[in-house]
This record gives sequence, structure tokens and C-alpha cells, in this order.
Amino acid sequence: MSSGRVPNTLRVDCVADDIRLVRDEDDLAEQLVHADTHEVPATIIGGGSNLVLRTRLPGTAILVRLRGVAFERLAEADWRVVAAAGENWQTIVDGALERGIGGLENLTLIPGSVGAAPVQNIGAYGRELSEFVESVTVFDRERQCYSTLTGPECAFGYRESVFKRDASHRHAITRIALRLGGAALATDYPDVARELAKRGRSRDRGTVADAVATIRRRKLPDPGRIGNVGSFFKNPVVALARLDDIRARIDIDDYPAPGGTGGRKIPAARLIDAAGWKGVRQDRVQVWPLQPLVLVNLGGATGNEVLDLAARITDDVQRRYGVALELEPAVLGTD
Ligand SMILES: Cc1cc2nc3c(=O)[nH]c(=O)nc-3n(C[C@H](O)[C@H](O)[C@H](O)COP(=O)(O)OP(=O)(O)OC[C@H]3O[C@@H](n4cnc5c(N)ncnc54)[C@H](O)[C@@H]3O)c2cc1C
Repeated sequence: MSSGRVPNTLRVDCVADDIRLVRDEDDLAEQLVHADTHEVPATIIGGGSNLVLRTRLPGTAILVRLRGVAFERLAEADWRVVAAAGENWQTIVDGALERGIGGLENLTLIPGSVGAAPVQNIGAYGRELSEFVESVTVFDRERQCYSTLTGPECAFGYRESVFKRDASHRHAITRIALRLGGAALATDYPDVARELAKRGRSRDRGTVADAVATIRRRKLPDPGRIGNVGSFFKNPVVALARLDDIRARIDIDDYPAPGGTGGRKIPAARLIDAAGWKGVRQDRVQVWPLQPLVLVNLGGATGNEVLDLAARITDDVQRRYGVALELEPAVLGTD
């Protein structure tokens, strides 16, 4: 057993009792069966870009580093890409763009591993991973065997999936298969449309990827330099009556609710901004001045300090607008 720091882009200090790098599927199965048999908590970690960690992670932290990506052309504009969980998500995006395969251009520059991508059904600028998932291969800790889930079996929702909903972390994802090539360009998202308008008439996949990359670099802090997990809060879905009530006080955009569940999705960033939190600093944590959905670690903050500021924002937004904000990252560990 060897303890070690858990890598995370929020740049908080967290030590796991035992930390292990796993590079093949047999080793992963062995580690998980061993931990589960001995009732040792085991947590799967990818790149640590969607984690808020407290100071200690009890049990074993398993860093998934399985490698391999294969692109297979099935027909003229129909591709399957199979990638192992430990690959960097951007490797798939770049591989698709290099081959002129469409679909993933809006999902460029999302940090993290392939294996974590289905967990919160990564999405950005009008596209979600779930549109492309053919299957997800997992080690099922309950049945102690490998199995494959189809896209529908993953029960994807907005920043949700069967994997995220299951608090027991039953599934360790080892591989995903995507079907690519058939999707039309998605350019309606207001930021993307504005950025493309600046670039004239060109509307190919490379231009969309480039526009998205420009927006991201402008708005989001680089985790290589300043600790953050991207969006800290999900965009809430509210009933129409609540939306009218909010609109009586502030201007706010609204979008269809994902999954046709009724109600409207509204930007959490606008609520946080209108409540006066943009740029607010509390000790070593700050609401990012260019994007109030993002909380940054100015240096030396603990996970709890970040969570304290998040709780103050959540309470205030609830009190002012009657909207319950939900956290997007996973909160792990103890003090
Ligand atoms: C600057 C920045 C921008 C971001 N922008 C976006 C964005 O636009 N859209 C978006 O959706 N997200 C965004 N994120 C969040 C993050 O990039 C994604 O959630 C990403 O998929 C996390 O990958 P990871 O490997 O770092 O996962 P981790 O943070 O290591 O883990 C996240 C969760 O997934 C679980 N997990 C990890 N690997 C596996 C596995 N193999 N099997 C089972 N469970 C696993 C972990 O237990 C944890 O619960 C952003 C983050 C940052 C820092």
C-alpha cells in the first residue's frame, strides 16, 4: 500500500490512503475485486478535472491509464471510433478532425479522460457526447465481470448518466465506442454563431472547432495555471411560472429543457452574475470574473473552502430567485 496525492485540476491537496495506476483491464478487475472483497473503498479517477476533493480520500484511488484508440471506416461518412478509458478526450477530437470526420468539433478542449466522458455525458456549445455513443464497456463491480452497455442503457441526460447517478460507483468504464460522421454542423449556440460571424462565410468542421477553441480560451481559466473544474454549477431547469417570476426582475435567456421534460433550461451563470457574485473573492477562492460559473483556486485553497463559497452562492440564488443550483463536479473524500 502506498499513499499519494490525487491529481486534480482544482489544485487542492488530497492524499489517498493507497493510490494505484492501472494500465490493463485484468489489473483493473483484480484491483477492484480485491478492494470490494476486503470492503476497502475504491474510487476511480481519470484526469481529476471534475473533482472537488477534501483532504483525505479513504481506501484506494485507482488511476485509470488504459491506452488505445482505433478509427474504423464503415462507409463513406460513417465511422466507428473505439477508445480506451485512459486516453485523453482531446485525442479522439483531434483524430476525428484530422480525418475530416464530423460531430465532435463543438466538444474540443474539454479536459479529462475518455473514460470519464460518459459519466457526466460531457457537453458544450450545443452538443453532447450521448449523440454519438454506440456502447460503453465497463467492469461491473456488482457482478464482478466485464459487460457492455448500449447508448440507451447508459440513460444519458444533461450532465447525467447511469454511471453518475449510481452513488456506489458500480461501473468502472474501460472503453467507449462512438459512431461518427453523420452529424450536421451545430452552429446555433449564440456564442458559436457570434464567433463564426466574425470569420465570414466559412462553415466547415475545422472552423467550428477553431471558433469553439477561441471562445473557451477567452472565457475559461487554463487549469495548467489556475486551479478550476470548469463549470461548478449545472444550468437549472425551471417551470414556466418561475421563469416569468425571474424575468420580472432580470433579463435571462432560456432554452428547451433536455429530454423534453417540460420547463425551460436557464443559464446558471446569469443568475450568479445578477446576484452580484462575479469576481467575488473569499479567502483563496474566487468567482472567475470572465465566467461566473467557474470557481478558481487562487493558490493553496482546500476543497472545503471552494465548497463554502459554492454554498454561499447556492443559498443566495435560492433566496433571490427560488432556484436550487446543483453542483456539477463530483465531491469526494473526507477531512
Ligand atoms: C477548464 C475546464 C473546462 C471544462 N469544460 C467542460 C465542458 O465544456 N463540458 C463538460 O461536460 N465538462 C467540462 N469540464 C469538466 C471535465 O472536463 C469533464 O467532466 C471530464 O469528462 C472529466 O474527466 P476526468 O478524466 O478528469 O474525470 P475525473 O475528474 O477524474 O472524474 C470525474 C468523475 O468520473 C468518474 N470516473 C472517472 N473515470 C472513470 C472511469 N473510467 N470509469 C468510471 N468512472 C470514472 C470519477 O469517479 C468522478 O466521479 C471542464 C473542466 C475544466 C477543468
